[in-house]
Amino acid sequence: MVEFRDAPQSGSPLPQPRSMTPPDKVWVTGGGERYHADRSCRSLLEGRGKAVENGFVSRMGRWLALYAAQRQEREPCRTCYVPRFGLAPSLVETRVPAATRLRVDDLPIYHLTHVRNLPAIVQDKQLFADANLEWHARPLVDISSEATRTVRRAKQVNDPSSFVADFVPFSLTRESGILRSIIGRRPDPRLGRTANLLVVNDFVRFVSSIHQLKEWRREASADYAPTFILAQGDGAHSDTRFGGRVLEFVERGRHAAALSVEAERLRQAELLVRDRFPFRRIQSIEVQNETTRRCVLGVLAPLSDPPEVVLSRFDRP
Ligand SMILES: [Zn+2]
Repeated sequence: MVEFRDAPQSGSPLPQPRSMTPPDKVWVTGGGERYHADRSCRSLLEGRGKAVENGFVSRMGRWLALYAAQRQEREPCRTCYVPRFGLAPSLVETRVPAATRLRVDDLPIYHLTHVRNLPAIVQDKQLFADANLEWHARPLVDISSEATRTVRRAKQVNDPSSFVADFVPFSLTRESGILRSIIGRRPDPRLGRTANLLVVNDFVRFVSSIHQLKEWRREASADYAPTFILAQGDGAHSDTRFGGRVLEFVERGRHAAALSVEAERLRQAELLVRDRFPFRRIQSIEVQNETTRRCVLGVLAPLSDPPEVVLSRFDRP
C-alpha cells in the first residue's frame, strides 16, 4: 500500500500516476541520505556536483535492495522516486519477520567434492586451498576447469596480496550454483571438460557451520589465525564484491523470490576460508546413495571421531 502523505493542494498540478509496485532495487551513494529510482536523477547529479565543489570526494553509487536502503534510514528522493512510487512504500512487506530471523552461528556452510578426493583429505586432515602448497596430493578429480583455476589464482580479494585461489570455497546454500550445473549437466565455465562425464552420485557434500569456523578461530594458535571472507557471488566473477556481513547477505537472499538477482547471488556466493579448513570441523558428509555411503564409511573407518554420513538427495534443497 502506498500512503499519500502529501495530498496535493487544490489548484496544484495533479500527481503523476504512481506505480503500485516499488522497484526492488534503488540507487544509493556513499554520502547521500536518500535513495533513488533513477541513477541519472537530476538532484543526484546536482548533489554530486556540489559535493565536489565543496571539496568532498564524491563516491560512486550502487544498486541496493529497497529494504536495505530503508533499514539504513534513507528517505526516498523527491525528484525521482516519490513522483513515481509515493512517499512511504510499505516497510512491513519488505521487513524480515522476527520469527524466521537467523543467528549467524547457525548458518551452515557446504563444500562439494568428488568421493575419490576424500582419502587424501582425510590423510591430510585438511581441506587445502588450491594455491596452498601443502597438498599431500592434488585432488584426484578436480571439479574446476583449468581456465577457472587460472582466473581464481589471478583474481584479487580486496588486499592485493591474496587471491581467490588462496581460499577454500564454501557455499552458503545446499543447492549451490555449481551443483546445479553438475546436476543439470549444464555447460558452466567453472567446470572442467571432464565434468560432464562425472556422475553426480559420486559427489559428497561436506557440511559445517559458521559456528565451527569461529570455534576453530577461538582455539587457533598464536602463529596461525584463520580468516574468512564473504564473496557476494562467484569468487572468480569480475562483478563479485568481497566482504560484508554474512548474516545480512544470507537473509536477503533467502527472503528474495527464487528467481531474483539476490537469490541467485546467494546460490553463487562463496564463503572463502583462507589457506585450509580442518577436516575435524566438518560435522557431516552428505551422500546421495548407499554405494557412496559405504565407500565414505570405509575411508572414515580409521578415524576415532568421524563426521556423520547422511543420505541426502542433492537435487532437493
Ligand atoms: Zn533522485
